[in-house]
This record gives sequence, structure tokens and C-alpha cells, in this order.
Amino acid sequence: MRILVTGAGLAGLSAGLTLSADHDVTIVERADRLRTGGSPIDLRGDALAVADRLGILGAVRDARVTMTETVTFVDAAGQVRATLSQDAVGDSPDDVEIAREDLIRILRDALPAHVRLVLGDHVTALAQDADGVDVTFAHGAAARFDLVVGADGIHSRTRRLVFGPEEDVVRPLGYHVAFGAMPGRADPTTRVNSFYNFPGHLIGVAQYHDKVVAVASYRSDGAEHDHRDPGSGRRALARAFAGHDEWRVPEILAALLDDQDLYFDIVAQVHMDAWHRGRVVLVGDAASCASGLSGRGTSLALTGADFLAGALAAHPGDLPAAFAAYERRQRPYVTHAQATAAPGGALLMPPTAEAIRERDEQLNALAG
Ligand SMILES: Cc1cc2nc3c(=O)[nH]c(=O)nc-3n(C[C@H](O)[C@H](O)[C@H](O)COP(=O)(O)OP(=O)(O)OC[C@H]3O[C@@H](n4cnc5c(N)ncnc54)[C@H](O)[C@@H]3O)c2cc1C
Repeated sequence: MRILVTGAGLAGLSAGLTLSADHDVTIVERADRLRTGGSPIDLRGDALAVADRLGILGAVRDARVTMTETVTFVDAAGQVRATLSQDAVGDSPDDVEIAREDLIRILRDALPAHVRLVLGDHVTALAQDADGVDVTFAHGAAARFDLVVGADGIHSRTRRLVFGPEEDVVRPLGYHVAFGAMPGRADPTTRVNSFYNFPGHLIGVAQYHDKVVAVASYRSDGAEHDHRDPGSGRRALARAFAGHDEWRVPEILAALLDDQDLYFDIVAQVHMDAWHRGRVVLVGDAASCASGLSGRGTSLALTGADFLAGALAAHPGDLPAAFAAYERRQRPYVTHAQATAAPGGALLMPPTAEAIRERDEQLNALAG
């Protein structure tokens, strides 16, 4: 089949790689280069078996990072108030933590030469009939495909064009989050990731390899920024932390606002009854975002891509049967991942000063 994958994030690259074994694949990415920002992410459970099937497990293990040696919550003066243990975040020793940029590079390098990766373009219209999908691009020539795989993230345009408005399926969890690069190098002698809370807000730094990532997150109603306008995101972030000169807040905020690659978005989930309509099917965050609070978004991206390719191979010429099989296998992973996200916000961003104190006491009690 001729397949178009929209989006070259972890879901799109995984789908492109696994589908390319049997199909003619084009991947179109809206950004003019692969987006490598963000903090390290986890590969868990069956996603590691998928990485093995994709032939990338060795490279993934070689690139793994150990970044959570110590996670501390500090007060306004920088004094440590609590330490977060691996048990509290639910990590398993089998999980592999890897820099997002490394996993993007590994998947990109594994793509066979016959996969076309088109950067700096996006779909503007999709019209499907019983035999195919006519696709119009913002820049490239229109083309017809047998199947379109929407892997263009939580704000998927593919989903909007085919399944309807974002508001119908995206459920904000009540937070915004930002990741950016801190200037300078990580200090290898103090592998400590430190975070400071004031009510409803979290800001801090996380180290991996020789890099430092700036992280900020806060409670919000989700309506205060337009994800299509990066300027409105920067303004919302600046407003949320304005007037706070405790600890390293101004320095970390400045690093985030200066980063041209800043990742800033609502924390939200995507809930859909079906991930396919006609010849268009969704994978990754576009279909079923569980949110960063679940720590399972990348694992879902990999299993979804793998199950979709497996289902298409098992049901040649029968897309409805293939899509039903894909959804049957992937649903339980999504349900589990989405259910694990809920406690993360309360742990990371307690709403009041009292709740921050209680969280610290609970963590200290856990640590013994
Ligand atoms: C820059 C960046 C940084 C991130 N950092 C973190 C992090 O630190 N922690 C965390 O938990 N999660 C992070 N995420 C989200 C995480 O990568 C996903 O939850 C997970 O990996 C699932 O990936 P995905 O491919 O479905 O979605 P995404 O990773 O969001 O990838 C979607 C891709 O589609 C592209 N795209 C968007 N619209 C279009 C369009 N109309 N046409 C073509 N392409 C389009 C985007 O540019 C992006 O490359 C980040 C995402 C991005 C894009």
C-alpha cells in the first residue's frame, strides 16, 4: 500500500519504520527539522519488546540515561525539604530512560532509504473514497494514498480534518508544562535534580548526559494560551512565574523563555471511541495521549505503531478488520496509561502551601 504518515515524532517515526517493511511509506513533518526537544522519556514493558522487533533495542540500551539518581524538592532558600524515591514515581528497574532526542535520532537512522521523510510541510485537506485518500499539502504536490496514519500529536490536524473538533476529544488535566534547555553543562559531581514549589507551581532542573533541562509546570484552566501561537505560550509562562525571585526561579524561567525550541503545552489526554474512520487511522498522542504525567506516552507510541503494522499484515486487503485488531490490542495499554496519570499532578504541584508541606512529609516518611 501507499501510506502517508503525518508527523515525525516518536509515533510517526515508529509507524514509518515498522510499516516500511511491507509498504511504500511517506512521512510528512510540519517542522522544518525533526523536533528533538524535551526531557528524557521512559520506555516501559512491552514497548521494549517492540524496540527489539524494530531492531533498535541495542542502540536504545546504549543511549540510556540515568537521571533520577536523586530528585529533591527544595524551599525558597534552596534547602532540601524532601527527596523523591524511584518507588514513589512507580519506575521499574526494567524501564529504560532515554533522551527524547536520542530516540528520535535512533528511529530516524533506522528508517530504510525507500521511506520518504518530507520536512516543513503539512496536510491541508483529505478527501477519501472507497479506494483511497486524496491529500493536499501546504507546499508539496497533491497525491493519492491507500492509507493515512495520523501521528501528529495531541493537537493533531489529521484528527481534526477527519474526526472533528479538538474540543470533543482532548480533556485538559488542569496543568501547563514547559521544557527547555538550560545553558551550560551538567555538573557530574552532583547528580541532583531539584525542584521548587509554590502553590500550584513547580519549577526546577533535571540533568542527563552533560545537559541540564529546565522544567516548569503549573495549574491552569487550559484556556489561557493558543497552541498555534508560540508567542502566547511564552507570555502565559512568563505570567505564571512573574514576581517570584525565590531560589533559582528567575534564572530557570529566563532559560525557558530564551529557548527557541521551547516545548510548552497543556497537560491533557485524548479520549476517542474509535481511532479510525475510513482509510485514516490515528496512532500515538493523536489517538490516545495519556499525558506526560503518565510517563507512558512514548511506550504507547511504540506499541501502537507495532500493533497497527501487525494488524495490517494479518488482514491484507481488509482495513476494517485490521483497524479493529489494532484497537483491540492497543486499548488495554491506553486505558492503563491514562489511569496512571491522575496522581502525578497532586504530587508535583500541590495546590496550597499546606499541601506542599504535607507532600514533603509524606515523601520523607516513605524514604524512612
Ligand atoms: C518537541 C517535543 C518535546 C516533548 N517533550 C516531552 C517531554 O519532555 N516529556 C514528555 O512526557 N513528553 C514530551 N513530548 C510529548 C511526547 O513526545 C509524546 O507524548 C509521545 O512521545 C508520543 O509521541 P507522538 O509522536 O504521538 O507525539 P509528538 O511527540 O507530539 O509528535 C508529533 C509530531 O507531529 C508533528 N506535527 C504536528 N502537527 C503536524 C501536522 N499538521 N503535520 C505534520 N506534522 C505535524 C510535530 O511537529 C511532532 O514532530 C514532547 C513532544 C514534542 C513534540
